[in-house]
Amino acid sequence: MSNLFYQTKSPRPVLDRASGIYMWDTAGKRYIDGSSGAMVSNLGHSDPAVLDAMRAQMDKATFGYRLHFQTESSDDLARMTADLAPAGLNKVFFVSGGSEAVESTLKLARQYVLTQGQPQRFKVISRYPSYHGCTLGALAITGYAPMTAPFDPMMQRMPKIPAPRAYLDGLNPDDRATGLHYANMLETAILQEGPDTVLAFIVEPIGGASTGALVPPVGYMQRIREICTQYGVLLIHDEVMTGGGRTGRFFGADHWGTTPDLIALSKGFGSGYAPLGAMIARDDIVDAVMDGGGFIHGFTYAGNPLACAAGVAVLGQIAARDLVGNAERMGAALYSRLMGLMQRYALIGDVRGKGLLCAFELMADRATKAPLNPALHAHARLVDIAYDNGLIIYSRRTRGGTSGDHFLVCPPLITTQVQLDEITDLLDKSLAQYMAELPAQVA
Ligand code: PMP
Repeated sequence: MSNLFYQTKSPRPVLDRASGIYMWDTAGKRYIDGSSGAMVSNLGHSDPAVLDAMRAQMDKATFGYRLHFQTESSDDLARMTADLAPAGLNKVFFVSGGSEAVESTLKLARQYVLTQGQPQRFKVISRYPSYHGCTLGALAITGYAPMTAPFDPMMQRMPKIPAPRAYLDGLNPDDRATGLHYANMLETAILQEGPDTVLAFIVEPIGGASTGALVPPVGYMQRIREICTQYGVLLIHDEVMTGGGRTGRFFGADHWGTTPDLIALSKGFGSGYAPLGAMIARDDIVDAVMDGGGFIHGFTYAGNPLACAAGVAVLGQIAARDLVGNAERMGAALYSRLMGLMQRYALIGDVRGKGLLCAFELMADRATKAPLNPALHAHARLVDIAYDNGLIIYSRRTRGGTSGDHFLVCPPLITTQVQLDEITDLLDKSLAQYMAELPAQVA
């Protein structure tokens, strides 16, 4: 009997060890980490170079409070992070996870507009569906009712615009008119809210857990940048899941070359070796806030030397082994394998993603995009079958919307072609088993 409580109803197998893309439980069963945990372990597990770097740091110091000491590892990681960020964004603030990174962007944005004499700006527009974290500030801008509903009375109401789910609306994502159609909803929302009250717009450049690897239509990212600039609204890229090379570029937005004002980063940035995240900000924003008395924010564990040493080694490995390039190459291979499965399984209604942020969605009817009956709990059932077969994938059902059950297939960026075959074979086997049990359930 464990004293822990999480969302899972049944106890999970006990993790024994992990190496590369594989994990073993204490009963000796092997799993392929086909979702890198929750899209975290970009570098795979137990990388010797990272473990060595962490051991070396542990031998020196594991904690130094950031207001008492600078540390080499946090200075090095800040420099490496700024070098990877778009021009003009050179200021880095460390945190311990994605929600903290998002909270930090909201608070820095707010303090910045105060220095600009615009105290009336406080609304943060986001999208529905979206996921930005589970703390109350990040939750207020999250568009995912199953997680937000109980807390509604405790949160500031924040405006939401629809995410560009062109595939559901029957629009062509390769048509620029589609991109403009969705992006212009931001302008409409800004005008409705009153442009001088809007502080920021936050967007996952490629959708994560809530939308299942939703790639924006052509022209979308450029147009939202234009709109934000036009109305003096700060643009925040939530790269918590897309950052760190997962999509085949270091930042997801690098696919479109657009530059935000603030970036939230976590997950693959520390790749699971230590709780680590970062906010990256435009220099002049930080300068204004610091000149105005300083940033009224900070977490005790932020900039932890051990976490930062892990981060330095993770970024070093990602660069040295061209894992961003591997994510692009393996991502293209995975995408075509998923398309192959789509040809064989009518239940797969859509395949999407970029790099190794790939997803497929199950639907009752591919033509009408009708979702499966929620009572089937397909999102949970297929994951369980795959888990029994030794393959871990990640799923969500976007309740309250028209979207069905989607599944993220996001192995570590070190994955090889042979391992992709292993993943696809296990997925194929799991889908076949799921199909076999479906008629009885539907009846
Ligand atoms: N933003 C995005 C896009 C995410 O995917 C997540 C985590 N799924 C978060 C924020 C929150 O990160 P964390 O769970 O580390 O707080």
